[in-house]
Amino acid sequence: MPPQKSIVLVTVDCLRADHVGFMGYDRPTTPFLDSLAAASFVIPAAIVAGAPTYYSFPAILGSRHSLALGRDVLGLAPGESSLASVLKQAGYATAAINAANPYLSSQFGYDQGFEEFQDCLSDEPAQISANALTAAPRGWASRLNGKLQLIRPAMGPLGIFYDELYFRYCQSVTPPAQSIDVLRPYPAADMIVDQACTWLKGVGDKPFFLWLHLMDPHAPYYPKEEAQALVGHSPISPNRARYLNSYWNRSDLGPSRLARHREEIVALYDAGIRWVDAQMARLIDTLRGSKLWDDCIFALTADHGEEFLDHGGRFHPPSKLMEELIHVPLLLRVPESAKTDLGKSPFSLLDLAPTLLDAAQLPVPEEFQGSSRWDEIRQGKHLDGVAISECVAGCTNPSRRDGRLGPRVLSVREERFKLMLQFDPPAEQLYDLEADPGEHAPLAPTAQMAVRRRLLEAAREHLQRTSGQRDQRMSLRARVRDLRLEWTRPIPQRL
Ligand SMILES: [Zn+2]
Repeated sequence: MPPQKSIVLVTVDCLRADHVGFMGYDRPTTPFLDSLAAASFVIPAAIVAGAPTYYSFPAILGSRHSLALGRDVLGLAPGESSLASVLKQAGYATAAINAANPYLSSQFGYDQGFEEFQDCLSDEPAQISANALTAAPRGWASRLNGKLQLIRPAMGPLGIFYDELYFRYCQSVTPPAQSIDVLRPYPAADMIVDQACTWLKGVGDKPFFLWLHLMDPHAPYYPKEEAQALVGHSPISPNRARYLNSYWNRSDLGPSRLARHREEIVALYDAGIRWVDAQMARLIDTLRGSKLWDDCIFALTADHGEEFLDHGGRFHPPSKLMEELIHVPLLLRVPESAKTDLGKSPFSLLDLAPTLLDAAQLPVPEEFQGSSRWDEIRQGKHLDGVAISECVAGCTNPSRRDGRLGPRVLSVREERFKLMLQFDPPAEQLYDLEADPGEHAPLAPTAQMAVRRRLLEAAREHLQRTSGQRDQRMSLRARVRDLRLEWTRPIPQRL
């Protein structure tokens, strides 16, 4: 009997599909992964089930639509089946290393099923490093600014001038940064891969499941200096990088003024991806050196993308589900399986966990809402069905319960058409991704009525299935956990 296959799952925060080489990007962000992709399955239209992190991961690890237990439930519910719990039960050694994304901590149930779980978070509420952005002045300048902000709305055009002056003043009083490494708020991929390699050394003969979550492309964008050179541009100095991140973070500027520094910001983001690529080469070298690679399934994907003014916005707030936020790369390497050409029909990350289990010849638990697509992938067959993504509009800080209960935003994506639905106020837009891949102009309300009807019907079915058949027991367990946590430990205030 052949040995049971191990599984390595790498999720990269904020990695949009069109910024990796094997998805057609022209900057050399992923030379190693491109070479791996040449002999692996590459899913052309992998779509997250929600964005950002907290609306994406219940589907990735738990194969469950993120709002299916109710909008007030974050993370995996206590006792909920996940890829890790299933593999642990099957006798796998399991480990997870998360580069300090607070929404993937034990607080939200992501440690379930992992024998070894490192989230690189301290017990203190997580805060962006004090250095990461320009310092806010203290003393008289802070008091004066506080007073001026009160009358800021009445200042008219003078207010714009004041904002600019204040931003420059903040720059001038911030002490210089000695290195880009001290500005970065998250551990870089090399540190996560170091820990992974140490764990792999002791894994022995057991099959294993290793999940790594990397934060290198996440804002603020402070890539390793070496990565900037590797991606082909001259390194941006630490102080310039801090200026750019502070500028990009300004809430007082519209897209046309932000666009001034867009290229440099994208260059920093791309260098973060390049660092992930270099570390993946190192990880796989270690697996090869330990003779673990031959029996190892390897999957690399992302929890959502990132916006660079594509639709006038920045980062990845949950309010729209445009392609730059929901279309992610998915590279899948399964030993002894030959690459197939897959069409452009969507693959929901809801199906990832069942597909990985099936590829490892393990049964998929009934409670998973997704299904295995392994047969279609290995035989190069068309992937039927639609990909549903959803989030709660404006919930940028889910530690506030009222923010979690905002209106739902939902998208239904087929290969060519995509329907976006807002529920409050009600609105819908239908896009033809073939004619308009940038989603710049929704089709007229009377166009493509049969398509519109089909996608609306898919949305209705989804809502009926996920809210009508809610697992109330699981939902209550999660709420009890959250209430206990509210008494004992503050929920992080970032991302
Ligand atoms: Zn994320």
